[in-house]
Amino acid sequence: MEALSKNFFLYLSNNSVLDRLAKKWGPKFGADKIVGGETFEQAVPLIQQLNNQGLDITVDHLGEFVSSEEEARNRAKECVETIQTISSNQLQSQVSVKLTSLGLDIRHDLVWENMITIMEEAKKHNVVITIDMEDSTRTEKTLEMYKALKEKYDNIGTVIQSYLYRSSEDLDDLNAYNPYLRLVKGAYKESGKVAFVEKSYVDDNLKHLIKKNLLNGNYTAVASHDDAMIEYTKSLAKENNIPSDQFEFQMLYGMRNDTQLALLKEGYKVRVYLPYGDDWYGYFMRRLAERPANVAFAVKGIFKK
Ligand code: FAD
Repeated sequence: MEALSKNFFLYLSNNSVLDRLAKKWGPKFGADKIVGGETFEQAVPLIQQLNNQGLDITVDHLGEFVSSEEEARNRAKECVETIQTISSNQLQSQVSVKLTSLGLDIRHDLVWENMITIMEEAKKHNVVITIDMEDSTRTEKTLEMYKALKEKYDNIGTVIQSYLYRSSEDLDDLNAYNPYLRLVKGAYKESGKVAFVEKSYVDDNLKHLIKKNLLNGNYTAVASHDDAMIEYTKSLAKENNIPSDQFEFQMLYGMRNDTQLALLKEGYKVRVYLPYGDDWYGYFMRRLAERPANVAFAVKGIFKK
């Protein structure tokens, strides 16, 4: 049943008709509880409120696939404006970007130029940029882009997904770059040819990656709502005297708020991933696929005025 509903929501996440309709409607069906607003300006007071609670943020302008060069350049321009707004409002916030939204599927030099534009502004304002990881057909290109940018800029990170067989080797390869890595289980529908199908293997591999990256001395963001991963990281850090400024926990906005605050209280750094924008549909469907319990608030949202 769980696998069925996961596949159903992942299938819906790729439905372009519903995606177009969703843009017209604005965040609905409970999506407003996990999305920070339709524009970055709308999200600013929320970020201030979360910062005041002690939570750090990374913002993500929702929207993955762009079809024209102009759209991709506009995305980069918006990202530059976001960095400027973060700086002028003194927000404790990083920015997460998806390379497909910057033209990855259009032309390599387009996405490179867009990333350079973003990184120059980010460097000026001391804002960290994290390249989100998308589906496995883009892993190689994303990691190559990350490595090339890391040669020029320090304020950049990326993501490794524990469901992919390749990830442990990717960590070995990245180690030479002293990377800033967010470690996650992985959110896309992948085949058994490239990814573990059994959840227990995905979980074990995430623990393995957390351990490897921390013991390599690299900054590690453990991005999971799973208590088992959180407890594992805490114990590992204690046993190996890993300084608290070498790692942080990350969770999605609207998920496990109490746990976020409890971790803060224990002295850990916690960052909330806050998406905003009118392209909320695919993001919302992937969250429903991950946790069918989220359907409950979505269904309530349908009947709410
Ligand atoms: P799951 O494996 O989904 O759940 C394990 C257990 O955790 C559950 O059984 C339950 O006990 C508990 N749990 C989970 N969710 C909740 C909840 N909402 N409330 C209460 N308990 C819960 N994926 C990518 O592919 N690329 C990315 O770039 C990326 N970036 C991310 C950034 C952040 C900050 C986060 C948090 C996730 C990101 N993801 C990304 C998504 C990630 O890959 C997983 O799909 C997602 O986090 C679900 O896995 P999980 O480890 O949180 O827990």
